[in-house]
Amino acid sequence: MPKFEKVSVIGSGAGGLLTALGLANRNIKTDIYEMASHIGGRFYSYYVDGYWVDEGLHVITRINSGPFIRFLRNNLKSIPKFVPHEGWYFRVYDREDTVPSSVFKALKWKLVDFSGRIQLLKIGAKIKTMTHEKMLHEKDKTFAQYLDEHNITHKVLRDILESGLYLATGVPITEASAYESLMTLKDTDKNEPKLKAIKKILFGTNDYDEGYVIGGMGGLLERIVDGIHGEIKTQSKVTQIDVEDNQVVGIHVNGEYIPTNYVVSNVPLWSLYKLLHGVDSETMNWFKSYSHMRPTYGLTIWFGLKKKVLNDRKSRVIVYPRPSAWIVSTSAYDPSRAPEGKELVAVATILQKGENPKKKAELLKEEVLEKYHPEILKYAEMEHIQHSYATRAALILGQTSLDRPGPRTPIKGLYIVGTDTAGKGVGLQHAANSALGAIDAITKDMEMQNQ
Ligand SMILES: Cc1cc2nc3c(=O)[nH]c(=O)nc-3n(C[C@H](O)[C@H](O)[C@H](O)COP(=O)(O)OP(=O)(O)OC[C@H]3O[C@@H](n4cnc5c(N)ncnc54)[C@H](O)[C@@H]3O)c2cc1C
Repeated sequence: MPKFEKVSVIGSGAGGLLTALGLANRNIKTDIYEMASHIGGRFYSYYVDGYWVDEGLHVITRINSGPFIRFLRNNLKSIPKFVPHEGWYFRVYDREDTVPSSVFKALKWKLVDFSGRIQLLKIGAKIKTMTHEKMLHEKDKTFAQYLDEHNITHKVLRDILESGLYLATGVPITEASAYESLMTLKDTDKNEPKLKAIKKILFGTNDYDEGYVIGGMGGLLERIVDGIHGEIKTQSKVTQIDVEDNQVVGIHVNGEYIPTNYVVSNVPLWSLYKLLHGVDSETMNWFKSYSHMRPTYGLTIWFGLKKKVLNDRKSRVIVYPRPSAWIVSTSAYDPSRAPEGKELVAVATILQKGENPKKKAELLKEEVLEKYHPEILKYAEMEHIQHSYATRAALILGQTSLDRPGPRTPIKGLYIVGTDTAGKGVGLQHAANSALGAIDAITKDMEMQNQ
């Protein structure tokens, strides 16, 4: 078999780019083929009337200790500055409060009545002290079922939990996996010692490990691209992956054949089977079994404001009235994202299957902004609506981190990365985990091949 030590990456989403970056640090060249005219997939920025907007409202979770930041630290010469936010503020009609960080604060929580507070304490203590093994027992339930079993019946409390979890799971709690919801609420990728967790519950903590990156997604993207060793070709659609004797031998890009023995696919799993050529039916069935994967959809409205009106680093989550929405002033973190003296605000929500983005945007403006933040509408000189899938596997039963495939596939030399493949976390954390898996598998397979 001829040896081609270069790796071909199909798709330049976060999973594909991070894999290429990690391989560059192991002296492996990658050529990236991207069908769109821009790189980054769901992870990029562009200008609208002088405002620097991201594709979606991106808050980067675990900016101090998560897999994404670790990946950047290990693979970039210098990492950009991340600015932490001042916390999550939930609004229930006219009451606004943060998420209580201790028992004492929970007892005074403004958003629910006394029975809601007691239920919060009960469920909060349970989750914060739960081991990973116990969470695994909940893998076949939805989060709503889990709450029912623990008699968490308080409507407002459940809706607040749902509004927060929407961002991670992309679905209502009646569909969200209990296992993934518990992992998110515990908010740790390491198992904390029980005593430390109990201390946190009693006395609270101020460590919000979340924030924004200076320069937005676009700035981050530039640094990642600088570290990649090889060519990045846009408007280069891969239309076929050739397989012989269960080994990748080449790909077709815009009609041109490129021989290659190592391919990393960042193509959504729901369509990857369509590219395969020369595989047996059993292998094809393996790929087809993922063709029904369901993504999460986001809707973001960017408002460019003539003057600064919010200008603080809060994350505002509106729980009532529906639709639940999330409002952030991104220029408060990074003033260069708006022209001088002006402000850039993002209002985001989850789009459910079948919902019309334009209608939902109107509803957001009418029900949320006109009532609670009319100043945003009053001073808006730029309005820009985006909608797209956000992550490629909503955290529903059958699509959790326990169910997703990768980085290897039944085809030798074909690896898969992205937010629908194996790897814990959501969004960029997930993409980083999937890239780590692929880099490890490729380097091991190359070493074996060369022995
Ligand atoms: C509204 C919104 C809000 C978000 N908020 C956050 C957040 O707060 N925190 C967070 O961590 N993450 C967030 N994300 C998620 C994160 O940006 C994405 O999940 C992540 O970037 C997806 O990476 P991926 O590897 O799955 O690739 P994708 O972005 O799906 O990229 C796949 C790429 O492959 C290309 N491609 C597909 N087929 C072919 C082919 N045949 N040939 C060539 N190229 C092909 C596509 O054009 C695309 O560029 C958000 C995303 C959105 C949209």
